[in-house]
Amino acid sequence: MHTSQLPSYISSENLGPWHIFLEQIEQVAPLLDKRLWPWVETLRRPKRSLIVDIPIRLDNGEIAHFEGYRVHHNTSRGPGKGGVRFHQDVTLSEVMALAGWMTIKNAVVNVPFGGAKGGIRVDPRDLSLAELERVTRRYASEISMMIGPDKDIPAPDMNTNAMVMAWMMDTYSMVQGRTVTGVVTGKPLALGGSLGRADATGRGVFVTARQAARKLNLPIAGARVIVQGFGNVGEASARLFAAAGAKVIAIQDVSGTVVNAAGLDVSAIKQHLSDTGSLRGAPDCELIAADDFWTIPCEFLVPAALESQINRHNAQKIAARIIVEGANGPTTPEADAILGERGIVVVPDVLANAGGVTVSYFEWVQDFSSFFWSEEEINQRLEKIMADAFEAIWALADKHRLPLRTAAFVIGCDRVLQARALRGLYP
Ligand code: NAD
Repeated sequence: MHTSQLPSYISSENLGPWHIFLEQIEQVAPLLDKRLWPWVETLRRPKRSLIVDIPIRLDNGEIAHFEGYRVHHNTSRGPGKGGVRFHQDVTLSEVMALAGWMTIKNAVVNVPFGGAKGGIRVDPRDLSLAELERVTRRYASEISMMIGPDKDIPAPDMNTNAMVMAWMMDTYSMVQGRTVTGVVTGKPLALGGSLGRADATGRGVFVTARQAARKLNLPIAGARVIVQGFGNVGEASARLFAAAGAKVIAIQDVSGTVVNAAGLDVSAIKQHLSDTGSLRGAPDCELIAADDFWTIPCEFLVPAALESQINRHNAQKIAARIIVEGANGPTTPEADAILGERGIVVVPDVLANAGGVTVSYFEWVQDFSSFFWSEEEINQRLEKIMADAFEAIWALADKHRLPLRTAAFVIGCDRVLQARALRGLYP
């Protein structure tokens, strides 16, 4: 590349997940077709990033300000697509990385989207439902110039759900003066949501885990599974593993870590969590220290919470055969190297958790055509896309002796950069 000035965020000391994304691009770049090399720099720079101020009136009459973000990492293959996260630690760097992973992920499962992501730096537990609605609506209004059914389509992520998507869809529709259901996915069914969307990410995690297990001749029935994060992704993954006869022996969330070597009752734990808001005191299980979660011997480890949970501090101690990344960016590059040396198979996020965006794609298509599919149809199409993507990545990894993450990035980057090269530069 000609030495144009580096963007400010690349010289910062604390780069966070964006730095990890850049390292992943660094690793894969030499493996790409040489004709694509001049375009790799596009992946190192988000196409556009917006920081917005979100002032709201609290229930007590005071005014509070929150910081929100929306990033389009790359739109070479289509409109931006990616979730919205509400979390007290959200930063621009994190949203940039999450948008970058969406670019790769959407290309890996070959849905016609670019990569985008959004977030608000807020702890939703501190807000009443009415305050949460005001934050969401003001955020949707502030980013309305960036989103739209053919521009960028947000979806749920950590601490956001179908209700938040309904508020976003309504706010955007009010700004437009007409009802636009296709502006977000992960909506309630009554507003053009899709059957199967709520479980889609967990289902994709389960399908890719099953495909990986087949390669290792590892039966799912009786396999021990541990899951970090018991929200949209973690709960559905745990439930689907249990339904297939696996034993979910440990679950960790922000409130605690529960174990039972004979297998936890996933639905009883879900009920306890919805009744009490905590895993503590859940039936038929023991509470252990958070750090001890990582050393539990198991066949499958599903991280389904935050980034960088598997790192140089615990990678050496992990006693799983297969890690299936429900979360985005749960494994640092250092940990990846350690796990690779130890022969632990990592099914990477850009493949393993792509079930959510795949069914979001189905939802978007259904909204455009105003014709809705059955749940069976959705699940069958999802399974085929996930299994085919897994096979392609496994075959490439096997052929060139690559980790699955590298193979997935080769396939994803190749699709994105081919589109980029074909489009050329404007003006
Ligand atoms: P969620 O808000 O529904 O659940 C998050 C879970 O993580 C909760 O159980 C929470 O208690 C737990 N958690 C938070 N901080 C934790 C900590 N420090 N230690 C242990 N547990 C902690 O969120 P979600 O939608 O299930 O998303 C989880 C992950 O999956 C995120 O990385 C997200 O980007 C990724 N993901 C989500 C989707 C989707 O469709 N929702 C799709 C692809 C990827």
